[in-house]
Amino acid sequence: MIPGTVRRQRVVFAVLVTLLTAVWGFYQWQPLRFDLIPRDPPRPNPWVDPNSKRLFRSGTRITLITAHPDDSEFYVAGLLTRLSASGARLSLIVVTDGDKGYYPFGDAASLRRTRQQEQTEAAKAWNAQEVVYLGHPDGRLKESPALVARLAQELKRLNPEYVMVLDARYPPRLTHQDHRRAGRAAGEATRQAGVGRWLLHFSTTAPNFAVDVTGQWERRWELLRIHKSQFYGQRLRQVQKIITGNALRDARLTRTRYAEGLRCVRLR
Ligand SMILES: [Zn+2]
Repeated sequence: MIPGTVRRQRVVFAVLVTLLTAVWGFYQWQPLRFDLIPRDPPRPNPWVDPNSKRLFRSGTRITLITAHPDDSEFYVAGLLTRLSASGARLSLIVVTDGDKGYYPFGDAASLRRTRQQEQTEAAKAWNAQEVVYLGHPDGRLKESPALVARLAQELKRLNPEYVMVLDARYPPRLTHQDHRRAGRAAGEATRQAGVGRWLLHFSTTAPNFAVDVTGQWERRWELLRIHKSQFYGQRLRQVQKIITGNALRDARLTRTRYAEGLRCVRLR
């Protein structure tokens, strides 16, 4: 082979390796994860009613576990509005401190404070009786035995009949890795704590139950807009489009205008 050609091939190879390393490095740095192979919902996936009468009865204890300060209003604002109206005793556990959000290059300490304030205000608006912040770093959540143990400890104390968690088994194809990890840890903690009759997974692509939220549709945007530091301008419009798309998809289960879907698993 001519020496010049060999040199050129080596340069091309080095450039390719550098490019691939850079792409891989960026993928690892940013917090989103993409499933190359889509996870299809189970077939059949029959309708499972998590004892709606009990769910919407006054005094029912429900604990929601989320990854970030805004997940509750992003995914289940309509359902929370309905539960609040029916007199449920709601509590929220937020696993990370939200110091990155959609704007990872801002001042982390100030963002942490702002997002916690926004979440506290939003939770007050749907009558949460308690909000617990575990303060793990946003975007880099580790699924540790310590996290599971802490969640189990809080769950034992709150003793909910229903535990609502992010779906780690059938998440959207492109999902924040904190959502998958918080969802898995929360499910494991619920089992360890031995509490709850039902595990209700939200942000799921395999809903087997859905709640009509047509009457709560305007209110759901009011709740989302409380997170002023995250959702404004173009970002707010993008997020509204995603949420509306999900609600129209889940409404096929209820044959109403808008719905929020859940994957319900009976625990005992
Ligand atoms: Zn989130």
